[in-house]
Amino acid sequence: MTTLINPSTGAELDHSPASASLEDTDAAIARAHDAFPAWRDVAPGERARLLRAFAAVVDAHLEELAQLEVLNAGHTIGNARWEAGNVRDCLNYYSAAPERLFGRQIPVPGGTDVTFHEPLGVVGIIVPWNFPMPIAAWGFAPALAAGNTVVLKPAELTPLTAMRIGELALEAGLPEGVLTIVPGKGSVVGERFVTHPLVRKVCFTGSTTVGKQIMAGCADQVKRVTLELGGKSSNIVFTDTDVAAAAASAPYAVFDNAGQDCCARSRILVQRSAYDEFVGRLETSVKALRVIDPSDDRSEMGPLVSAGQRESVQAHLDGASIAFTGSAPDGPGWWLPPTVVESRDTSESIWREEVFGPVVAVMAFDDEDEAVALANDTDYGLSGSIFTSDVGRALRVARRVESGNLSVNSHSAVRYWTPFGGFKQSGLGRELGPDAPNAFTEEKNVFIAH
Ligand code: NAP
Ligand code: MG
Repeated sequence: MTTLINPSTGAELDHSPASASLEDTDAAIARAHDAFPAWRDVAPGERARLLRAFAAVVDAHLEELAQLEVLNAGHTIGNARWEAGNVRDCLNYYSAAPERLFGRQIPVPGGTDVTFHEPLGVVGIIVPWNFPMPIAAWGFAPALAAGNTVVLKPAELTPLTAMRIGELALEAGLPEGVLTIVPGKGSVVGERFVTHPLVRKVCFTGSTTVGKQIMAGCADQVKRVTLELGGKSSNIVFTDTDVAAAAASAPYAVFDNAGQDCCARSRILVQRSAYDEFVGRLETSVKALRVIDPSDDRSEMGPLVSAGQRESVQAHLDGASIAFTGSAPDGPGWWLPPTVVESRDTSESIWREEVFGPVVAVMAFDDEDEAVALANDTDYGLSGSIFTSDVGRALRVARRVESGNLSVNSHSAVRYWTPFGGFKQSGLGRELGPDAPNAFTEEKNVFIAH
């Protein structure tokens, strides 16, 4: 059992779930395997109805789920409500998939050729602590819609919302074994998803280091795998933009969720002639950020998730040239103020490494080519933003930045109805969007002789 702690106060929580053993995990996988044939064979319209019922039950418990996330993960209540709503919306969106899991009919001589999208069987989803609810739903909603059963391991630090969602699935009428939450350690439960032959696909979100181990482990059985890993994304600000607006929005693109976001724009590249103005305005907006009790409706940033995560972020700041910081509460809890570093050299670790905390590095560039080269000088490629009023430049730069998710003159969050995933070492495969259910199927080709 892991003792759960409220990150805002450092106080122990009353309820800590027992960690599943290897035997518990095997039993959960066996139940999911047993539940698979019946779930696969549920009529498409009925599976759709059950997913919509699940969405409705989540919606009815939205506030409870949001409060649980504030308590367990220190998310601001505004974010937590959005996250619970995102679970509902993913379920509603993919509830339209069972009746639309189309194959194709391909012209061939001497017969008819058709394709089917067959579900895989049991899918194992491994979730990190940074967005416990959305990341779980991005996996289970399309997987269930495509006719798979799911075993899901939440992060040890943040199991509570996933466990509640598992109960709500049963309340909504999903059969036993269709969605099973298995709380426990990555080294036990997570690894078993990789090694167990009845788990046919692993969806992993987390660190690049563990993601590489998962991919190597999956190779043994040629197991299907989707990876959503780290990022070191750039917010590129050109002189021809509204510099005041860019500086006002930049803190939210990196300090949201206390920077514990794989899409955080943790590098800001500013064209040299606008650099001083931008940094001056950024200081104003960072100092105005409301880093307060996350259960307060006005809170814009809460604490880090754990003492360990705060230590890890602080270690990245050792020796960095801090330009200025915002505020943070004193006293207990894992608080850290939003921090801005001016980087002069691309070899600095603060410029290169994913910090996963409220820290942003700012650097000047001279022209478009240099901006693109600096943005691409990383092993990651997950997100990024481009601020310019020149539509040609916006499109040129968007096409040249090696990253899966870019926004122009905005810092758009992930939308469940558009594809999401990384270039390079930020991941493998895509989640969300209209094609996600297909990633939980095998395409089968059938030829019928006439
Ligand atoms: P992590 O170790 O990659 O953990 C992510 C998930 O994988 C957790 O559920 C974890 O279980 C599980 N896991 C760990 N080792 C495993 C293994 N050998 N086999 C199968 N599953 C395993 O990430 P972390 O330790 O939470 O965070 C470390 C760093 O990763 C962060 O500082 C950040 O840089 C990065 N990160 C990135 C993302 C992202 O969205 N891209 C998310 C979280 C973290 P436990 O609960 O036992 O840890
Ligand atoms: Mg870890």
